Amino acid sequence: MQRRVFLKKGLVGGGAVAAAVALPEATLAEGPIHWKMATTWPKNFPGLGTGANYLASLIEEMSGGRLKVKVYGDKELVGAFEVFDAVARGTVQMGHGAAYYWKGKHPATQFFASVPFGLTAQEMNSWLYHGGGLALWTELYEPFGLIPSPIGNTGVQMGGWFNKEIRSVADLQGLKMRIPGLGGEVLKRAGGTPVSLPGGEIFLALQSGAIDATEWVGPYNDLAFGLHKAAKFYYYPGWHEPGTTLEGLINKKAFEALPKDLQSIVLNACKVANQDMLADLTARNNDALAQLVQQSAHGKEGHGVRVLKFPDDVLKKLRTLSEEVVAEVATSDAISQKVYQSYKGFREKVAAWHVISEQAYLNARTL
Ligand code: CA
Repeated sequence: MQRRVFLKKGLVGGGAVAAAVALPEATLAEGPIHWKMATTWPKNFPGLGTGANYLASLIEEMSGGRLKVKVYGDKELVGAFEVFDAVARGTVQMGHGAAYYWKGKHPATQFFASVPFGLTAQEMNSWLYHGGGLALWTELYEPFGLIPSPIGNTGVQMGGWFNKEIRSVADLQGLKMRIPGLGGEVLKRAGGTPVSLPGGEIFLALQSGAIDATEWVGPYNDLAFGLHKAAKFYYYPGWHEPGTTLEGLINKKAFEALPKDLQSIVLNACKVANQDMLADLTARNNDALAQLVQQSAHGKEGHGVRVLKFPDDVLKKLRTLSEEVVAEVATSDAISQKVYQSYKGFREKVAAWHVISEQAYLNARTL
């Protein structure tokens, strides 16, 4: 109402004033703009689903209520693995998930989620924002009518839950494990059988014995699914997902229909939510890990989980296979090659720096 009165005054006051207060069409519409965000997570799932909720609340707050985003969990509007198509066709304006779920759309999507033995969270954000990664991601999604944006990062994940000990590479033979993306392909070459399942279906599959092992995220998210009740051994490190970027998808047409300030709010809210999720998960993983490994005692509930490190020869074998798998994705087509070269070049440079900074410091801290 105020805006209309203001505009009316402007028009009455003369053309020059009217031009100065001319607002983009969408701002003049009656009431707020309503968007829907479909996610690949169970509704309100700790860390990931709540990260999507936080983004929606940020957009509403930053836009002064002009843009409202309603968040939907897995299967509320569409299933987890239908999110990409739902945003592309405009059924919803936004999506939240992880880019490796869409490897069937294009193999290069996997570089924007996580690469086995690849970049950590800090390195991934550096590559995306300041190393050319986000520009390549945008180029890759352009033909789908989608704009991608990093929205969250898990940090280094856990290696997963296993119903038997992994003592050597031979123990991976015939292992049926839920593990997405490139990590799944690596497991396959090590003799295992990768299975693709949305988060919400993991627990029952593991408990019923349909799968022998699963990875999910880290202590906080894994505890929320109760995975410790379905398998005994909890392995580290998450070689397959060293810093998984969660993905925001925006329908390009819907985005372009927004006035410029709302466009900026959407993209910058994504950036804030991206950082916030890593901080949230890191803080909560600490507490959840303590709860998982603790024995029940003195009326305090603990789960007595056995946390084990993969043997070095298993990790070395997986690393060798990973290099092969990742290089093969690069041969898919020209853009895959371009993304691979950019990612690989960045990893080499950042590894040279981080070996004498982050890594040397973390080693020094535990001497
Ligand atoms: Ca994972």
